[in-house]
Amino acid sequence: MEFYGENECVFCNNILDSEETVTLGEKGVKGIEKAAEERKERVTGKTGQKVHSKCKKQYTNPRILSVLKRKEDCEPEKVCLRS
Ligand SMILES: [Zn+2]
Repeated sequence: MEFYGENECVFCNNILDSEETVTLGEKGVKGIEKAAEERKERVTGKTGQKVHSKCKKQYTNPRILSVLKRKEDCEPEKVCLRS
């Protein structure tokens, strides 16, 4: 288990400094949980927690998620070898 300090971004583990941050609302937390599920990761956010705005956007970006999904379905060296 990793511990994330209050002042660290759950996505990049960097200190919430200098960069633009957002405070997670219920909706934001749900979005992260959903994205984490898609990514098969265990990132969770708490309501009221601060994260980098940039990181959250990237993490929950539907386009990035769908690319990841496609990759998983179609890993060149694994699944897609149909001979
Ligand atoms: Zn971050």
